[in-house]
Amino acid sequence: MLHFFSRLICASLAISISACGHQPAGRLVVVGIDGMERQVVDGMIQQGDLPNLAMLMSEGATSSIEVVRPIISPIVWTTYASGYTKDVHGVLGWSHGAVKPYTSADVRVWRIWDAATEAGIPVLVSGWLITYPYNPIDGHMLTDRFVWAMPMDRRMDPDFLRSESMGQQEHDGTIWPPGDYQVASALVPSDQWLESAQLPYQFDRYSTVFHPLRKDETHLRYFEKILGTTDVRIALLYQNGVDQVSHLYWPFLDENQARLMLEDPDLRARTLKDYLNRHPYETRTYPLTGTLSRQDIMEAAQWVPDIYRYVDSVLGRVLALLEPEDTLIVLSDHGFRCSPYEPLLHGSHREQAFFLAWGAAVRASGEVEKLDEVDVGPTLLALAGLPVADDMKGRVRDDIFAIDGWDTVETRVMNRVSIPAVEDKSLSGERLMQQLQALGYVDRSGRPIENPFESR
Ligand SMILES: [Zn+2]
Repeated sequence: MLHFFSRLICASLAISISACGHQPAGRLVVVGIDGMERQVVDGMIQQGDLPNLAMLMSEGATSSIEVVRPIISPIVWTTYASGYTKDVHGVLGWSHGAVKPYTSADVRVWRIWDAATEAGIPVLVSGWLITYPYNPIDGHMLTDRFVWAMPMDRRMDPDFLRSESMGQQEHDGTIWPPGDYQVASALVPSDQWLESAQLPYQFDRYSTVFHPLRKDETHLRYFEKILGTTDVRIALLYQNGVDQVSHLYWPFLDENQARLMLEDPDLRARTLKDYLNRHPYETRTYPLTGTLSRQDIMEAAQWVPDIYRYVDSVLGRVLALLEPEDTLIVLSDHGFRCSPYEPLLHGSHREQAFFLAWGAAVRASGEVEKLDEVDVGPTLLALAGLPVADDMKGRVRDDIFAIDGWDTVETRVMNRVSIPAVEDKSLSGERLMQQLQALGYVDRSGRPIENPFESR
């Protein structure tokens, strides 16, 4: 069925595409950190923290990316990977209707891995949002649902992966090639690793059922394994722990909110009670809901910086796999701030996303002109030696990168009108919706929570 889809996709493009004559010498490596906020990075680097980010930012080019509201992660990551905005690419949020998350079947444009496949360029994608079910690509794809088809909750039954209950249907469509299932499932970190790793206290005390570390580490280990052993020319990794932890713990990081809580140990509890009375359908599981001691507040203030330290170690591990001719881009889909409505209760998304470029193809240094969110797609395509579409609204940022020209095609919008919706049989959708409720992205009936100023 999926092979049929990809044939259909190719047939829908009026122009035939051949690999162009602008092949770069090195690999293009993109690390997406959901919700990474530049102010946290700058502040921690000033304190002598985050050694890998400090090195990358001092040697490379940095900027911000302007993203448009509503700032919802699946929309932005699909825009980055395709070069098209949501009205064109078709992903309008986390879920549409009740209890139905968006999937790759909703995406109406080519993404960089589709373009690479067409050009015969091997690509690696690990964890990128809205990749389930996979399109058969030239290369390897761990979709965003692979981890949801796994037991990700706190106490993982070590027999689960070997048990009969882990049937074919559980992981159908979650990894390409399907033979990589054995490889990836063997890389899921054990409870012992999580308890001895950098964030054991978070793993233990996380208020929602799934701490992001197990998922992020799975994405990273698969990425390391394939990038280190296989010839791929483009590699994309997605990590989401910063976003999840920031939603819940941002108020403790904010000086003003922390001071208010120190002055009145019951203020947060009262505010939460009042908020829940006004919002009976709220599904978020808030941490620290009682009387708060100074120590509670000081410890809670470490959650966000600690997950940034994990991200820095992720970048260190990616750097260890790079060659001198490679190029690395690190970017986020939005920044963070206190919720403008409930600053004591949670963090919310901010329009300025993080951007960093480092390595062989980078010509600029220091702070460069801000990017528009639609610049990312065409820039990635041109950097990878792939044709850019004429109907993309953004521009190739050849002021940041040394790009030796690029070919063009008319469009990368595909005709998917006749494609039937993918039947979603796996339990991964159910687990994903459970997590989205815990983070307050959807209400109890699975409907997306719409508030233009409190994007999730
Ligand atoms: Zn978020």
